[in-house]
Amino acid sequence: MQRSAVVTGSTSGIGLAVARRLAQGGMNIMLNGLGDLDAAEAERAAIADEFGVVCRYSSANMMDADAIAAMMAEADEAFGGVDVLVNNAGIQFVSPVEDFPVAKWDAIVAINLTAAFHTIRAAVPGMKARGWGRILNIASAHALVASPYKSAYVAAKHGLAGLTKTVALEVAPHGVTANAIAPGYVWTPLVEKQIPETMAARGMTEQQVIQDVLLAAQPTKAFVTIDQVAGLVAYLASDEAGSITGTVQSIDGGWTAH
Ligand code: NAD
Repeated sequence: MQRSAVVTGSTSGIGLAVARRLAQGGMNIMLNGLGDLDAAEAERAAIADEFGVVCRYSSANMMDADAIAAMMAEADEAFGGVDVLVNNAGIQFVSPVEDFPVAKWDAIVAINLTAAFHTIRAAVPGMKARGWGRILNIASAHALVASPYKSAYVAAKHGLAGLTKTVALEVAPHGVTANAIAPGYVWTPLVEKQIPETMAARGMTEQQVIQDVLLAAQPTKAFVTIDQVAGLVAYLASDEAGSITGTVQSIDGGWTAH
């Protein structure tokens, strides 16, 4: 049976790698994300051609509950149901809490946490009815531990872990699992963009931020790769992973073992 997946925030970084990996495994894919429409169309066409699956793209903004509902309805309609839901869209902003812009707080909580509530509430009835489903929430090591100057992100990711556990308990009798994935630092545009903000917040050079802030947390002294995260998502989305639910899976080069 051919399965279908919605991957939010899949025009870049981790989400794009996850979408490609699930398509490689034969799933139809709903891509989503902001940014250049031509680039998104190129990714969509490449996935459809390379893997022979149906691939759609939705530009739904994860801050907009109605747009999220429309994207989920479109996926249901196009694929006959959403079997795998990957909540991956996320943004970051780095600032001392007393200076944290209120609009940035609201956007981070909306995109990194509340959007997952909206996609999950749309996906769960169909998953329950079909007796199978996989909900994967891309959290972060910051779902388990904190770092200074990331109040909104850490709060939203801890919240996402809580949402994951709660949903897991509710859907467990129906063949549906819900897990969070907690990557350490993965080299993507999201990490690259926060380097100048961290340089300003801590008064450091770029090299100091990479070595003393980012990789300081990871005993492996290496960035996690997008393909490693995609591989973990693909496993958790498989039949074999049916007994893994309600967990927060670390993939962080040993960061949270400290
Ligand atoms: P990225 O910036 O490369 O990609 C983010 C994606 O989210 C893009 O496709 C972007 O268009 C989309 N997006 C952003 N705002 C959106 C909105 N309002 N509506 C719809 N889509 C939106 O980032 P990434 O590093 O690949 O991060 C993906 C996820 O992984 C995020 O949830 C992030 O918090 C998490 N994560 C990343 C790292 C890391 O080190 N890169 C570590 C842990 C967790």
